[in-house]
Amino acid sequence: MAAVIYFIFSFFFSPYTLAAFFSGFLLGYLIYDECHYAMHHANFKSGLFKRIKDHHMLHHYSEPEKGFGVSSAIWDVIFGSGFSKKKAGQSEKKKGNELKEVQEQQLN
Ligand SMILES: [Zn+2]
Repeated sequence: MAAVIYFIFSFFFSPYTLAAFFSGFLLGYLIYDECHYAMHHANFKSGLFKRIKDHHMLHHYSEPEKGFGVSSAIWDVIFGSGFSKKKAGQSEKKKGNELKEVQEQQLN
């Protein structure tokens, strides 16, 4: 897949610019992927990363017509696609149980 993307980029950049741009692109994608993995598997206890994880779990397992921001709710606020206050403010235990139910339904 990376070779295909490199090939597509080669139409737009000179060789030196392509090397620099593609290196940055790969590094950015790697950082994004590691952050995404952490959002699913790390156990954040509080703070910003916990809020980001909570939003990300709603992004995946809640209403499909809402929550298009993968790592931030900013764009959902701007475009009015945010989750309802009730859903976003549920207790952690209730939210966790709901997510488990949805995940189990998807596995079955
Ligand atoms: Zn995810």
